[in-house]
Parts: sequence; C-alpha cells; structure tokens
Amino acid sequence: MSRIMTPPWPRWADLKLPLLSWLAAAVLLLAGCSVRAEEDKPFSIEPVKGNVYRVLAGHYRSVFMVTDAGIFVADPINPAAARWLKSQLQARFDAPVRYLAYSHSHPDHALGGEVLDGPAVTVIAHVRAAEDMAWTRLPTARPEVRFADQLTVTLGESSVQLQYYGPNNGRGSVSMRFMPANVMFVVDWVLVGRMPYRNFQGYDVHGVIRSTRALLAQPRFDVFVGGHGDVGTWEDVKFYLGYMEA
Ligand SMILES: [Zn+2]
Repeated sequence: MSRIMTPPWPRWADLKLPLLSWLAAAVLLLAGCSVRAEEDKPFSIEPVKGNVYRVLAGHYRSVFMVTDAGIFVADPINPAAARWLKSQLQARFDAPVRYLAYSHSHPDHALGGEVLDGPAVTVIAHVRAAEDMAWTRLPTARPEVRFADQLTVTLGESSVQLQYYGPNNGRGSVSMRFMPANVMFVVDWVLVGRMPYRNFQGYDVHGVIRSTRALLAQPRFDVFVGGHGDVGTWEDVKFYLGYMEA
C-alpha cells in the first residue's frame, strides 16, 4: 500500500548543521537506504501468461512483456529491484527494453526508472502522474510520453493498453492491459488475494469504486496482477468491488 509521501531526502541548502552532524546524517541516510533495499529482497520473476511475466520485490509487484520487437516494463519499483530486473532481462531474453510505464506517481513503485531507462527506451506516464513526479522532483526517469485518457503501445504482434479512470489512489493512476495475453495490471486501487484495510489512508474510496466498476465494464481480462498480493482473476476483482461497495 502506498500513501502520499513527501520526498525523504533533505534539501541540503536548508540544513544549517555543523559538518560532522551533516556527515552523520548522510551516513544514517545511506544506512536507511540499504536497510530498505534489504527488506525488498528476495527478488523473483514468474511467468503469468503468454509473454507476460510478474516481478516480485518484497511486498511489491510489477509486470513486463517480452516480444521480438523489445520488452515493455511497468513499474521499476525501486533502484535495487530495477538493477536486478535489468540484469535478469539481459541474461534471459534476447530483446532490449523499449518501454517503461509508471502505474502511478508514488515513489514506492516508481523509483529506479533511471536504471531501466536508456536512449532506446520510451518512458510513459499519465499526465497527472508526470506532473506529480515533476512537482516532487522524484529522482527517477522522467516520462517523455504523457497521455490523458488512453494510450496503446504496440510491440510486434503484442500491445499494451493504458487507461485512466479519474482519481482513485495517487495521481495519474492507470491500468495496463497486456494483449494478446489479456493480463490486467493495476496498482494499489485494486487488491486481490488479501483484503484491504478498512480505513484507506490517502485513498479516494468513491474514486476507487468508480474506477473498479469502469475496469469491470470493459471486456473481461483473463488474469489480474496487482502491485501487491497474489495473481487473481476477473471474478476476484468483482469480489473486491463487492467488498468495497458493502
Ligand atoms: Zn503500493
């Protein structure tokens, strides 16, 4: 689960500390970073369906799609996960990363973009997610393709359909449908395999319900992958909606 966060890094210019405390603070910061990276291990990749795979990093999940024309990666999650994923993609698949798309703007899913970015990579986000990343100066790869309602990215015979539903959780939160596998990826505003907490901190509950209804009103998907929890089905998402509406 993510909530709206302010950047954890201090603005150095604002710090009026003696050099030693300044150094101590820097060391603590670095230690904190490595502890967080440790928590996110172990990393793994598992096949979902067809040419779509799931990435697991601690409690976080992302997906990628492999085609002869290149690889489409969703959330990088964090720098350690992105570094691990990059090495795995190079070792396992004979195709370059061509696209990187953020599901939404929250740092706990969107950091590490710069690790996967490169001259041949197009970085994608919803306009509101891109705005939010710019405002918070999120240290990750900046989206160069921004869309307002929907966007379809084609790679050979495969494609990814990105769709925006309005406010739900975070800014510019979108779904990604991977075709022809028909795998749906949604982060944070749909949860399957575990029930959400009743008090949704930072969530627009009505927005979540509205968005989930719209998601289910589309053609059925075969597999659902969330940003947390287990892989599920269309029926699992329907059950989740019933829970949210109750
Ligand atoms: Zn989350």
